[in-house]
Amino acid sequence: MVLAEMVSKSFGSNEVLKSISLEVKRGEVMCLVGPSGSGKSTFLRCINHLEVVSAGRLSVDGDLVGYREANGKLYELAPREAARQRRDIGMVFQRFNLFPHMTALANIMEAPQRVKGLPKAQVEKSARELLARVGLADRADYYPAHLSGGQQQRVAIARALAMEPKLMLFDEPTSALDPELVGEVLDVMQGLAASGMTMIVVTHEMGFAREVADSLVFMDAGVVVESGHPDAVLSNPQHGRTQAFLSKVL
Ligand code: ADP
Ligand code: MG
Repeated sequence: MVLAEMVSKSFGSNEVLKSISLEVKRGEVMCLVGPSGSGKSTFLRCINHLEVVSAGRLSVDGDLVGYREANGKLYELAPREAARQRRDIGMVFQRFNLFPHMTALANIMEAPQRVKGLPKAQVEKSARELLARVGLADRADYYPAHLSGGQQQRVAIARALAMEPKLMLFDEPTSALDPELVGEVLDVMQGLAASGMTMIVVTHEMGFAREVADSLVFMDAGVVVESGHPDAVLSNPQHGRTQAFLSKVL
């Protein structure tokens, strides 16, 4: 589903991603961990068409991200085409980013109605099903300000799912939450993983990584230092930098 082959990304002279190669197969969950500034968000942003890679090849479900290939040459993707590919990717951020002036239900209905132009009754039915799926069937008419952080984040997940993505990206989805609200969001994510969704999750929740992820990637300073099955990486990290990081978060 996601294939990165020697992907690099620079901002000016600052090389933030350095020859990243990794693969996430359909239906797999990858957890991406590493210190602040190591390039995790930038990597997710490249996958989600928010940044264009500087070198290497990055593809989602067989489509090159950011470029189109013709006659052996690469051309930057037209914004329209990038937007079309982006629709199939859901992203959830640390801050919930809900529209504050819309109810939970309206937040979820917005994109399918506007982008896909589906009939309102059909969109509303799906949106209510999604609210039920994230355990918020009784909060449809609440505005974000009247929901807890955990509830807002669950609405944000439902909103991303409303576009029926084939890939979900999570960028520290529980980092801004009070500790007692983290579990309810992780539970929803675990359910999503169990339903077969392909996911890349940037998180410091190692319990989640161990229980849910198929692979764990440790990044530092723009480099993949170590990757493998979560049990292996967590119980027996091979690199000093991984050990040092894990000793802080475990
Ligand atoms: P992480 O998510 O692992 O904390 P980031 O991907 O946010 O790391 O950032 C990695 C590095 O890239 C940081 O040094 C950051 O300052 C830099 N960076 C990120 N986005 C930009 C940008 N738009 N312009 C310039 N530098 C950026
Ligand atoms: Mg980040």
